[in-house]
Amino acid sequence: MATMITYEIADVTCMLCGRLCGTAKREGQGTPLYFRSREGGEWRQVRAISGLRCPSCGGSLYLDEFELKREFTAEAFLEEDAARPRRGRPPRPFRIPSQAA
Ligand SMILES: [Zn+2]
Repeated sequence: MATMITYEIADVTCMLCGRLCGTAKREGQGTPLYFRSREGGEWRQVRAISGLRCPSCGGSLYLDEFELKREFTAEAFLEEDAARPRRGRPPRPFRIPSQAA
């Protein structure tokens, strides 16, 4: 059961002005590459970082070294929740049988 995902992440920087333009992400070598601009927004798949341009000066971008990241998936958190003994309400006291039944 895969409860942990690994991916690689790298800064994307402009060759001309040195500005940090965004972040690149991939699941490993040879997997599709995703890019997100520094302003945020959605990850979008890109063929190569060399196809992107710096929004400020139009310069070419380059990838920094990829750094390996590990993250628990949302499912992992759910499983952990389910495994944990439930806290909260103590057992209900016995109910006094009602007279009017
Ligand atoms: Zn630039």
